[in-house]
Amino acid sequence: MVQTAPIIDPFGRPITYLRVSVTDRCDFRCVYCMSEDMTFLPKQELLTLEELARVSNAFIDLGVKKLRITGGEPLVRRDIMKYFEAMGRRLGDGPDGGLEELTLTTNGSQLRRFAKPLAEVGVRRVNVSLDTLDEAKFAKITRWGRFHQVMDGIDAAAEAGLKVKINAVALKGVNDDEIHRMVEWCGARGFDLTFIEVMPMGDIGNENRLDQYYSLRQLREDLGKRWRLTPLPLNTGGPARYLRCEETGGRIGFITPLTHNFCEGCNRVRLTCTGQLFMCLGQEDEADLRAPMRDHPETDAPLNEAIRAAIARKPKGHDFDYSRQRVSGEVSRHMSHTGG
Ligand code: SAM
Ligand code: SF4
Repeated sequence: MVQTAPIIDPFGRPITYLRVSVTDRCDFRCVYCMSEDMTFLPKQELLTLEELARVSNAFIDLGVKKLRITGGEPLVRRDIMKYFEAMGRRLGDGPDGGLEELTLTTNGSQLRRFAKPLAEVGVRRVNVSLDTLDEAKFAKITRWGRFHQVMDGIDAAAEAGLKVKINAVALKGVNDDEIHRMVEWCGARGFDLTFIEVMPMGDIGNENRLDQYYSLRQLREDLGKRWRLTPLPLNTGGPARYLRCEETGGRIGFITPLTHNFCEGCNRVRLTCTGQLFMCLGQEDEADLRAPMRDHPETDAPLNEAIRAAIARKPKGHDFDYSRQRVSGEVSRHMSHTGG
């Protein structure tokens, strides 16, 4: 293992959090994420499982402490447990203590099969995306998803001892009437709940999502009519802000890239399943980490150099803006490619 100085961006922010999209494929077709006739990347474009482990290891050696695996749906990638096993071995192993947390974001469909093996390799927490508790609505939002399979997956995660957090995209006219039920349901099960603002990603001009936009400022106000909410000082270096719901004791997070600028303490970068590194979710700039790996199978020096050069270009923040009923700062890629 090469021990090198940790990576710090031009604004003095140490980069300690890597999100890795391991596939662009998915067994669902959520309306805000993919089109129904989505075409996926050819297999040779994707990083192999070995390349995913190699680049993730390079980041861990450069000081990354938290690794979140996402997609597409990470659990539909063939043999994905091999990658989880490799990353599990880095927990506590590396300069400065190695990886501190290995986690994933999933639609939950495969959790019945994977929850236990994930727990066994050291995963402690899992984020499950669930926008509604209504089976018919669930079918409309996910198009291909099966509600009871996800519910069963969530049960399996809890049974395996994983701490579950539910992520719900707030959608006007779709799930805005369910927010109290979601708080109750999560509170009763000891799950944290995070609401996410819908983001303008996908085909520019066609998928800006303005019609579905339910501002979390409004959502928070609406929640406040029913629940006593106390701000929590927790700041994870990301876009989420947290409240405690006094009645349920549960934590409620708000991911508000559009109503607040959260970029100041940003500690993260995102790797796509093709090995492109995005220094900011809301900007187009990217760096290719696949070529330095494929061109130099024998040494990681060019890969490390490419990572450092990329971090040196990390911008101060994103440019999303839904103000005054217009959209700007859209990015022309799908969330499933970059990894949500
Ligand atoms: N398939 C997994 C899942 O659904 O949890 C992981 C990948 S998915 C792209 C990660 C997260 O991105 C999900 O919570 C999903 O709801 C969110 N997401 C996808 N498209 C979005 C959009 N346009 N705006 C906001 N969140 C979005
Ligand atoms: Fe698949 Fe997740 Fe996108 Fe839904 S949000 S289509 S589950 S990748």
